[in-house]
Amino acid sequence: MIALLSLAWADCEAKWASPRAEYLLSAFEDLAHMPEMWPAYQADEASHVLDAGDGCVALWKNQKVTKTQLPNPPRLLTPMFGYALPWTATEGAFGALLEATAQPDALTAWLVSLGVDRAVVTPIQVAPPLGDFIDEIAALQIAMHEAFHVDVMLPRWAGEETSWPAWEEQPDRAALKSCYPDAEAVQFEQQALADAVEQAYLEGDIGCDRLNYFRILRAKRYDKVKNIKIVSPDGVLTCPEAELRMELEEGVPDCVSWFGLLAMEKVEWERVDRRNRSRMDEPFYAFGAMQAALAGPMEKSLLVNSDAPTGLGDVIAGLCAG
Ligand SMILES: [Zn+2]
Repeated sequence: MIALLSLAWADCEAKWASPRAEYLLSAFEDLAHMPEMWPAYQADEASHVLDAGDGCVALWKNQKVTKTQLPNPPRLLTPMFGYALPWTATEGAFGALLEATAQPDALTAWLVSLGVDRAVVTPIQVAPPLGDFIDEIAALQIAMHEAFHVDVMLPRWAGEETSWPAWEEQPDRAALKSCYPDAEAVQFEQQALADAVEQAYLEGDIGCDRLNYFRILRAKRYDKVKNIKIVSPDGVLTCPEAELRMELEEGVPDCVSWFGLLAMEKVEWERVDRRNRSRMDEPFYAFGAMQAALAGPMEKSLLVNSDAPTGLGDVIAGLCAG
């Protein structure tokens, strides 16, 4: 029995010696030096579970790594990540998410024994073909993006106080695709915003001409989709109303991760710029991330404290006024 156990442990140790595992564990340490990308959010306060396969798991928490081997592996929501969440299922989309992310009892018990009730689960290896596109930087970016959901957005939906606007709820996300009917027009709109962000990053100037051009292109698209209605828990919404919610939900975690990595010099500008301009199935990721990157601490706190639905576009509008 003892021999078997030590054999199993030795298997885990070999997995933890992989370059990907070592990169992620050391990158999590560096999150302590990331500037604040969202009000009251410190990326290094997140808990990360790494899944090395065969039940070998490591918890990264408060700069400390604890490893164990569990009888069964963590459950993943997609091949790239899973969540461990403390809330019990409610109705609607949030309830469905909680059900889909429920973890095996052994993992939950182990985390609770370590004082952790919520964490992101990141697999060390993602199987091809998807895995071929996820290098170590992408793996880190996804873990950071998901940690923001777990520590800021989802707790708010569960009724906890966090720096997430209290009014924010998820509209019918799949229906939102109808708000982007012309891929080429969306591409131009995205380029205009990316040009403004590029100017802000490379020249330290907000790029108001480019930002205003983005607004003109956006207004044209909104005019074309003005009759579309998107169902949401807080009512039937127009495209701009539904989009501002998804630009927050997916754009802010993308801003925190991509632009946070950029601020820590863990990713090059060219890669972030490429991402800003890339064609997407759900363009609100890039639109939201770029607008959040342009927003300063004051604009972001305005948004967090807004009583009525307010978008990133609303709070950065003042940046180029006058
Ligand atoms: Zn997300």
